[in-house]
Amino acid sequence: MKNKLFTALTVLFALSLAACNVSDGGDTTTDTTAPTDVSTVESTVQTETQSETEVETTTETAAATETETTAETETVIETEEATTVHTHLYGEWAVMTKPTCTNYGKLARECECGDKKVDLLDELGHTEVLLEAVAPSCTETGLTEGKRCSTCKKTLVKQTVLPVLHDYVDNACSKCGEPTPSEGLKYTYNSNTDSYTVTNIGTCTDDHIVISGSYNGKPVTGIDEFAFWNEEFTSVTIGNGIKIIGEGAFESCINVTDVTISQTVQHIGEYPFSSCENLESVSVSHANDYYYSDDNCIVELQTSKLILGNKNGIIPEGVKVIGEQAFFGCTGLKSLTIPDHVTKIPAAAFIGCSGIESLSVSPDNPYYYSSGNCIIEKNTNVLIRGCQNSIIPYGVTAIGPRAFSDCIGLTEITIPNSVTSIGDRAFSFCSLKSITIPESILQIGEYAFDLCRMTSVTFEHPTTWTVTGFDENCDEINGVTVPSLNDPEQAAKYLQDVYFACKWTHIWTVG
Ligand SMILES: [Zn+2]
Ligand SMILES: [Zn+2]
Ligand SMILES: [Zn+2]
Repeated sequence: MKNKLFTALTVLFALSLAACNVSDGGDTTTDTTAPTDVSTVESTVQTETQSETEVETTTETAAATETETTAETETVIETEEATTVHTHLYGEWAVMTKPTCTNYGKLARECECGDKKVDLLDELGHTEVLLEAVAPSCTETGLTEGKRCSTCKKTLVKQTVLPVLHDYVDNACSKCGEPTPSEGLKYTYNSNTDSYTVTNIGTCTDDHIVISGSYNGKPVTGIDEFAFWNEEFTSVTIGNGIKIIGEGAFESCINVTDVTISQTVQHIGEYPFSSCENLESVSVSHANDYYYSDDNCIVELQTSKLILGNKNGIIPEGVKVIGEQAFFGCTGLKSLTIPDHVTKIPAAAFIGCSGIESLSVSPDNPYYYSSGNCIIEKNTNVLIRGCQNSIIPYGVTAIGPRAFSDCIGLTEITIPNSVTSIGDRAFSFCSLKSITIPESILQIGEYAFDLCRMTSVTFEHPTTWTVTGFDENCDEINGVTVPSLNDPEQAAKYLQDVYFACKWTHIWTVG
């Protein structure tokens, strides 16, 4: 390898030497420190040089139209002159490129005429450092022995991650108590991480699903999105080693009552246990650094966000924010009290909560208050969430998006004359049969009464309404006054069936 490189470089420089001095005798430039094979190469080059000279001579001869003898004589004279004019004299060797663990370095020295000589420096080779093996435990993965270069930091022998290791006796680990893993679950191997992800239930028929952090001698690090969607087991243990619970991983597992989450789980995707309507007991390991459980709810430690609420309606101490999906599909939720420490209640938090009967807010909460079984934001007087027994108090300025969505027990409601807008999907999927839209309303959001059963809508101000939106129907009459809203039956049809996906706007006209 080195010899080939060297020869190639020497030939290159020897050729440039030929350009510098066509008739270099060779002896004058012999470098005593140069490796022995240089002379061989140079003599080859010299031959080439001479033949070049001959060619040149011939050409000159033809051009000069003189006799061959004369021309030859001239050439010889020229050559002799060049030989006496310059003898290469090289300076000291200088390092051009330092050698590394795996690459040669380069030395060069130069004659004042610009001619260079090059030599190579041997590669240094790696400096191996042993990386010790780490034994796995019940909670921590291990590592096989490896090697690394302390100079270039390159991994020479890669360490393989060993999965968590339990000592199963009977049906559980004798050290940590984790139950023996379920068999038959389906896994996907990820070559990038040399680990597995649980994809679905496979052939497993266990009533109690145990997802272990070890499969086939490799770590299992995650549970895929919707992996166990709509399955029938009644409890699940997410074992040590699992880091990620994918979005909707256990959504609609309606028989699940108990969930146990290990200390290694670092990320829980959205809607993890949505619509698990029989969920009663949720526990996260005390050693988990990302989540904790309290009152059978899951809270994200860093953000104090409620990730998973519970049908008991108790919001744990310390929760500041209610997550967007905290109560998603929690059909069993009947009564909810917002404590004083909650500062944010998103509109979508109660999607699918069809059974709420009572709502209240701690009087000490600085951001929200309750009245008539409604949760109302203090500084805007926007109704955030209502329920089937709500009475909207006068003073509420707006009914927020989804405020009553999915309240299937809501059959009638009175909107006070202080309300100026009804948010998107505010009453979608309620059981309203009739409603009166007061004069004060200037806007009704998209899908506001979608999927209701209204047969009668009374507009206190039935004229000067327009509908707009992206729906095809809206475009048809975009900007045109909606025809007769005087007839409550007709009005119900327009609001709920014909232009239900449009935004309704009421523009007051003077006189
Ligand atoms: Zn020179
Ligand atoms: Zn190295
Ligand atoms: Zn164990």
